[in-house]
Formats: sequence, C-alpha cells, structure tokens
Amino acid sequence: MQRSYVIKPELGKEYARVSHGKGIYLYDVSGKRYIDGSSGAVTASIGHGIEEIADVMREQALKVSFAYRSHFSSDAVEELGAKLADWAPGELNWSFFVNSGSEATETAQKIAIQYWQEKGRPTKTRMISRWMSYHGITMGALSMSGHVLRRKRFVPLLADYPVISPPYPYRRPEGMSLEDYAMHCAGELETAILRIGPDQIAAFIAEPVIGASGGAVVPPDGYFQRIREICDRYDVLFIADEVMTGIGRTGAKFGVDHWGVKPDLMTLGKGMSAGYTPMAATMATDELIDTITRGSGLIMAGHTYSANPQSAAVSLAVLRYVEAHNLVEKAAVQGAYLQKKLQELADESPIIGEARGLGLLCGLEFVKDKQTKEPFPLSMGVAARVIAKAFESGLLVYPASGGLDGVAGDAIIISPPLTITTEEIDELMDLLKKAVQQVQ
Ligand code: PLP
Repeated sequence: MQRSYVIKPELGKEYARVSHGKGIYLYDVSGKRYIDGSSGAVTASIGHGIEEIADVMREQALKVSFAYRSHFSSDAVEELGAKLADWAPGELNWSFFVNSGSEATETAQKIAIQYWQEKGRPTKTRMISRWMSYHGITMGALSMSGHVLRRKRFVPLLADYPVISPPYPYRRPEGMSLEDYAMHCAGELETAILRIGPDQIAAFIAEPVIGASGGAVVPPDGYFQRIREICDRYDVLFIADEVMTGIGRTGAKFGVDHWGVKPDLMTLGKGMSAGYTPMAATMATDELIDTITRGSGLIMAGHTYSANPQSAAVSLAVLRYVEAHNLVEKAAVQGAYLQKKLQELADESPIIGEARGLGLLCGLEFVKDKQTKEPFPLSMGVAARVIAKAFESGLLVYPASGGLDGVAGDAIIISPPLTITTEEIDELMDLLKKAVQQVQ
C-alpha cells in the first residue's frame, strides 16, 4: 500500500479503494464485489452507474455548471423547485437548496427563527428535538441532534435545547398499548413546551423514522398526527427531517406521508441526488416564505454552492428516474419482502432482538437476551462486528449505534437501492445471515 495523505473516518485503518459501481453492486480495485446493502449512507438510492444521469451531468456541465445564485436562477433550479413542490405535502412549495443534510436542517432552524422574528415574535428562538436523533454534524444541526456519541466532545459549544424521548416501540413500558404509547411520547412535547414557555419555542424537529441513531425505528400510528396538533396549539413549527426518509425510501414519497401529516419545514438530502452529486434542500410553506417576503425579503442563510445549476440538473434527473421507474411503489413492495426476510433471520438468531423498518429503510437491533431485551455492553460492539464480517464477505450495511449511551443503540441499517430485485434481496440476505452467524 502507498502512503495515504487522506484523513479517513478511522485513522490508521487501511480502506479498500472503490473502483466502480453498477446497479446495487460496488467493486474495489482488486475486483472484489460488494452488494451496496445500505446505499452507502442511505444515499445511492437509484443504484450506481446509470447512464442517463451521466448524460445529464455532461450536458449540464457543457451548458453551465456554476452560476452564482445571487446573480442568476437557472432552468435546472426552477424545474427542480417545481418538481419538489409537486411532490411535497401541503403548502410546502418553496425550496432552499444547499449541499448536505446538515446544511438543510441548520437552514430550517434559521428559517424557523427568522419567521418568528418577522412575525413580531422574536423570543421564539429555541428548538425542541428528541433523543436518538441525528440532524447533522455542523454546530446548529448537532445542537438539535440527540446523538450522544456525536455530541459528546462538543457539548460546551452546542445550544442548550430541550430534548424529549422518541417513540421506541421495542422498548416501550411493558403492557402499554401502541396507541397509548404514541400519546404518551407526543405528550412529552406538550410538557416541554409548557415548561419552557411557548413564547420561547420556534420549532420541533424530528425524523419520521429514526435512522442513524436508532436503526429504522418506526413510530406508532397516531404519534405524528398528535405532534402536529400540539405544534398547532402552541404556535410551534414542525420540521420533518426527511434527509434519510425522503424521496421514496420508506415506500412513500416522504416519511410523513404515511400519516398524512403536513410539516411547516421539511429537509431533504441523500436520496435527493442519490449520490450523483452533493445536493440537499430545505422546503418551507407559503405562510413562512410569504411572511419573510413581506418582511425583510431576504433569507439569512446560504452557501457558495447553494442552488448551483449542475447539482440541480442532476437532482432533477434523479427525481425523474424515480418517477419513471416507479421506485416509490417498488420500495414499498420490495421493502415488505426484505422485512419478511429480516424477520425470519431475527426469529432464528439468538442475538437479534428486533427486525423493523418501513419500505426499504430497515434495521436489526442486537441484544444479549431476547427475553429481557438486555443490550450487549456497548464495548462489545456487536453491530460493528456484524458490519465488519458482512464487509469481508462482500455486503455493505450501515451502523446505527450511539444514539443513547448505554441503552440499546446496537443496531444496523439495511437500506439497499430502491431498484433492488427479489433475487438480489435473497443474495443480500444470504450474506447478512452468514455475517450474523459468525458473530452470534
Ligand atoms: N438528517 C438526517 C435524518 C440524517 O440521517 C443525516 C445524515 O445521516 C443528516 C441530517 C445529515 O446529513 P449530511 O451527512 O448530508 O450532512
């Protein structure tokens, strides 16, 4: 191996070098093939090496790749905005384009605060979020994230925001029905708002399905409807962080669509450009943007690469691909099949406490004792060992640990491209089963 000058996630570790990808497969430079069982970081959701996306990239680069957003709009940006307005629920008709999920959630935070200022309610500046959540790595986004592991080193720099418990059905109080549990968890939001004072709270942010910090934890029906009611009652904006769940991943266009809930702000990333270019968006309702338009007329956020025509064209091509190949519907069908297979694996494995998921966002949680649900000590890193074994045999899955220190959080995400076929799911499951068996 040649000496490396690149700072990698794990310093000192040697990483395989990727060579190319096709469909659900990635290949390293030695020729070894991997099933991209997590679409990378739940990102490459239409698969790798799609020629029509490459064609659009070339065409747009030759037309114009970059024109600064304060000088020009572009056809690509306008068409992408219109497409997202068409896809999004309710009055979420406006998109602010950024380059990563972290920027998208941090922009949502800023727009929420600015909205209340322009409404003449400047004390509404704080955000409420949940434990077992991840909204991004930059300081504003991390302030809203209930991900213990990622916060730890930076706590003194983070905004002191109130945090409530998420619904975590697998670990709900014994004997409590899912209906009661949904109301119980949503009730925590009302308690937090009343404790701090509605005049202090700008917004509540949540992932429709918990991703990186829990491993595809799906809330019980009724939870988000209740959250919406509470937000309305106390003039608190609801931000749906759809960076992981959006654009078909869960078998609906957006996670909140499963419960018919309409957010005030919605963030997108990952599958929005499916790994072909960095691209993300913060979507806002007419009410928010009309208020700011009538007020200062200027959104106080943005990045150099925001709304660049190149990324917009690629993202638009990805959305068109998702539509043309019915990938939202396919994610629901293939997701049901994958979940059935994961359940079979969970039934026969002594270390899988729960198989769960929505569409093609699926998770496995590992436990020491299936009866008592006692977690493994975090130091054992069971999820990390399964991930390593899977990698060895040519399967990529994604870690979802560290959401709550010492409690659970020993999970993995299985989230293959939405294009995956039934035969490919069987192939994925063979490798995953082998990896779990090597660890248990
Ligand atoms: N929000 C959610 C729900 C995420 O899952 C992530 C990343 O995993 C982010 C925000 C941050 O996105 P990025 O890593 O693109 O900054």
